[in-house]
Amino acid sequence: MQKGAIRVQTENIFPIIKKFLYSDHDIFLRELVSNAVDASQKLKTLASVGEFKGEIGEADVTVSLDKEKKTITISDRGIGMTAEEVDKYINQVAFSGAEEFVKKYKGQGDGANIIGHFGLGFYSSFMVSSQVEIFTKSWKPDSQAVRWECDGSPEYQLENTEKESRGTDIVLHINEESEEFLDEHRIRTILEKFCRFLPVPIKFQGEQINNTSPAWVKKPSDLTAEDYQAFYKELYPFAEPPLFWIHLNVDYPFNLTGILYFPKITKTYEIQKDKISLYSNQVFVTDEVKNIVPEFLMLLHGVIDSPDIPLNVSRSYLQGDPNVKKINAHITKKVADKLDEMFRTDRKSFEEKWEHIALFVKYGMMTEDKFLDKAGKFHLLEDVDGGTFYTLEEYRTAASAVQTNKENKLVVLYATNPTQQDSYIAAAKAKGYKVVKMETMVDAGFINQMEHKWENVLFTRVDADIADNLINPDAATQSVLSEAQEGTLKDIFTGQVALPGVKVELKGLGAQDQPVIVTRGELMRRMKDMAAMGGSAASWYAGMPDEITMTVNANHPIYQRILGEGDSGLQQKQVRNLADLALLSQGLLTGADLTAFVNRSVELMEK
Ligand code: ADP
Ligand code: MG
Repeated sequence: MQKGAIRVQTENIFPIIKKFLYSDHDIFLRELVSNAVDASQKLKTLASVGEFKGEIGEADVTVSLDKEKKTITISDRGIGMTAEEVDKYINQVAFSGAEEFVKKYKGQGDGANIIGHFGLGFYSSFMVSSQVEIFTKSWKPDSQAVRWECDGSPEYQLENTEKESRGTDIVLHINEESEEFLDEHRIRTILEKFCRFLPVPIKFQGEQINNTSPAWVKKPSDLTAEDYQAFYKELYPFAEPPLFWIHLNVDYPFNLTGILYFPKITKTYEIQKDKISLYSNQVFVTDEVKNIVPEFLMLLHGVIDSPDIPLNVSRSYLQGDPNVKKINAHITKKVADKLDEMFRTDRKSFEEKWEHIALFVKYGMMTEDKFLDKAGKFHLLEDVDGGTFYTLEEYRTAASAVQTNKENKLVVLYATNPTQQDSYIAAAKAKGYKVVKMETMVDAGFINQMEHKWENVLFTRVDADIADNLINPDAATQSVLSEAQEGTLKDIFTGQVALPGVKVELKGLGAQDQPVIVTRGELMRRMKDMAAMGGSAASWYAGMPDEITMTVNANHPIYQRILGEGDSGLQQKQVRNLADLALLSQGLLTGADLTAFVNRSVELMEK
């Protein structure tokens, strides 16, 4: 048997690190500025534990551009490096001085956060440079400054040099393919993207480009509502003020801070995903938080910062990362708890916000079962009259006496368009039923899923059947017409209403009910609504005819008169007009049929 250590050929591994580790070339600046920030933070830690006794002075990081010499220089006044340290941290690829430092000073000093982790970041500089120089002088008393140089081959030079001040200058000699980076605007854009909230001042062309203490790193107790609003404005200068926010602050079993803002959303077109930015120790990582934040919360805005989300790895890796999964679950819980608390402590203001948050509460209930469990307590059904809100339990209490069907299910009656469905709402209310609004884009899908997820609940739109049948579809009715009269009336109707998919039925409703009522069966209509939203079975259902029932109310006094009408032509026209009126109230009378109806009405009135 043989045992041993795997050997790496530097000549082969080097180009891989240089070219393929990072797909995005911009990040060289992120890496080098992060190292400079780390060096400055480390010095503060050494000072706070009493190891460094000198003057820290200004611990700024400066980025400068020399177009003539084709160089970008990143300078700091941090801990610097001795020759031995350069050999250890720079000449050894994938040996992280950051990690070593964090282990050594864990729990000591003021615990400044260190960004570095894998010991690979520095080498990203070779993606854009033909040569890199390091000028560095350690914080240690009487240190000799050193200069390191490398052209991207595995050979380097290390020699003594002169350097006045403590700290490090990294000089990048930009290669030919990367000259785009020798542009002020480009550098500024990259710095503003990645370094906007770094904890040490970053200067470019004499200006500080960052806010060193963004709201999310502060304690919630130190922040006022104005502070949160102001930070929102800093992130999204053109957005409307947020509805409310959640300040995340977790340190076990993983580290996570951040602020999630709830924007006002009522319309589909207002939805903007990818408005949450992911940071790691205040360094920007990505706007694509897909796997970290549950899908339904992607509608939120704000910042999440977690050093436990690895900065240097590819995004596909995130999916399988156990920390990422925990973070996802934690955020879901936090959001649910916050909504629950708002509901309990100030129900009125929660109700006022409901129209803006309904969309993603419903979406969350459909997609995350953990959220569904909690949301049951604060999800609201709004009465069509407006201003009255019920939780499901409250609705059950208020309506179960009259809205429980034979299968012992609570029938929730709803309207998708209260103005259009007004006559049906009126009919349902006359029976003492409670009708709620279901107007948002997710409602068709929501209703479908809740019928499965909630026990003993059924949803029925107010126009799905005549009011008598809304709760139990086959309520018996008594007609005042004789069987022969019913036959005659039905024949005239079927003769007049030869529309495909329309079924004519005779029922004995109340004398005060409408003479003809057109209803659209719940299931087929719902499928078609969902198809219109672009579900999977979209085209199939969209092509199906509507299931329309035309109920003729045999008890309406008008039929006594129509049956007694001697002129059969006139009789047919009257019946046709009654049918058209009912179709009209469902919005189903259009085009030539509508024109014919108008002409016929005028003609009948002339008689
Ligand atoms: P990481 O930051 O993940 O540790 P890097 O490749 O970015 O890896 O850097 C390797 C090491 O080089 C750092 O951990 C640090 O010890 C040292 N180093 C890099 N840049 C500086 C700097 N500006 N000042 C002091 N030390 C530095
Ligand atoms: Mg680094």
